[in-house]
Amino acid sequence: MKFLQRLGHIRFGRQLPVRRFCQETAPRGQVLCGKTVAKECRKRVKKQVKEFQEIVGRAPGLAVLLVGNRPDSAAYVMSKTKTCAKLGMPSFQYNFPESVRESEIFTTLDYLNKNDSVDGILVQLPLPKHLDEDRLIQYIHPHKDVDGLNVNNVGTLTSYGDAPLKACTPSGIMQLLVATGEDLEGKHAVIMGRSDIVGKPMASLLLAANCTVTVCHSRTKNLQTHIGMADIVVAALGKPEFVQGDWIKDGAIVIDVGINKIPDPNAPPAGSPSLKGKKGDGMKMVGDVDYASCKPKCSWITPVPGGVGPMTIAMLLQNTVNSGWARYKLAQKE
Ligand code: NDP
Repeated sequence: MKFLQRLGHIRFGRQLPVRRFCQETAPRGQVLCGKTVAKECRKRVKKQVKEFQEIVGRAPGLAVLLVGNRPDSAAYVMSKTKTCAKLGMPSFQYNFPESVRESEIFTTLDYLNKNDSVDGILVQLPLPKHLDEDRLIQYIHPHKDVDGLNVNNVGTLTSYGDAPLKACTPSGIMQLLVATGEDLEGKHAVIMGRSDIVGKPMASLLLAANCTVTVCHSRTKNLQTHIGMADIVVAALGKPEFVQGDWIKDGAIVIDVGINKIPDPNAPPAGSPSLKGKKGDGMKMVGDVDYASCKPKCSWITPVPGGVGPMTIAMLLQNTVNSGWARYKLAQKE
């Protein structure tokens, strides 16, 4: 718990209001609303941006590189830059065609690495196949690596259980777990997925919070047995409504990271007029967890949408402010 208090105090300012529940006695099916927790985080970041502006004379800036025409990537980038604007942070967007040469992106990263108004750099993933994703990501200066993917930041997180810049989705999930008021120490957490952006950093953060951690992946045998033993399930495998309610231990906390689109006969069909600015596509968004069957079994569950997603963006902006402060303090010392 000390670790989480440190998270709350140092990285995110004030500790989130903590309600004390015991998982065994907590009511079932409580919705862990990412929208609400993210709103608190954004408020805090907005205040920090103002303080930064007053002291440094500019607001922390985020650069986002978008390659190609994937509608989901474009939507994520738009949502990130819109949130930046709301919090008073400048964002610089660089769009490249699908066929862009790798050298052009390296040149842009070089420029951004050296640009003092840019505190955070994010390359929207996935990239087209002809680009070497890992080489490009590692080229981002570790002090501006707001996605927490640079080996320096990953290594620090793995060794010390914390890092100045760490992956946004797992950081956001830790905030959500704090918001449940549950004591995480000694709990068995089962993570489904071992990606660099979710599964692996999630394991480091949960270990640092003194959980017992099991990481499952596509070759894991007896997956359901592992899930059935979990006090905390983090589902990040990218398979729509995969985790079923009868796999879940009674009273577990279920964190659904998945973002999947599936056909929905009730959704406005493709080509229909847009509703609230969103075009109809005959699809609906679901997570990696079958919400209807899991909700009655668990103590807490994150919805999709409105669970982990809003936290990821809030943490990205928090990372950008953290990076701004760290770079400013470093410059003062030189
Ligand atoms: P990846 O595709 O990079 O990784 C998926 C992981 O799931 C892999 O480790 C894979 O195993 C594992 N896996 C696949 N099938 C199974 C299975 N049947 N049983 C157990 N494990 C399995 O995905 P990401 O980590 O990038 O994303 C996961 C999901 O989370 C996606 O739906 C994505 O859209 C969503 N996401 C949501 C975010 C948010 O803000 N809400 C942010 C990031 C991602 P193996 O390694 O063996 O292949």
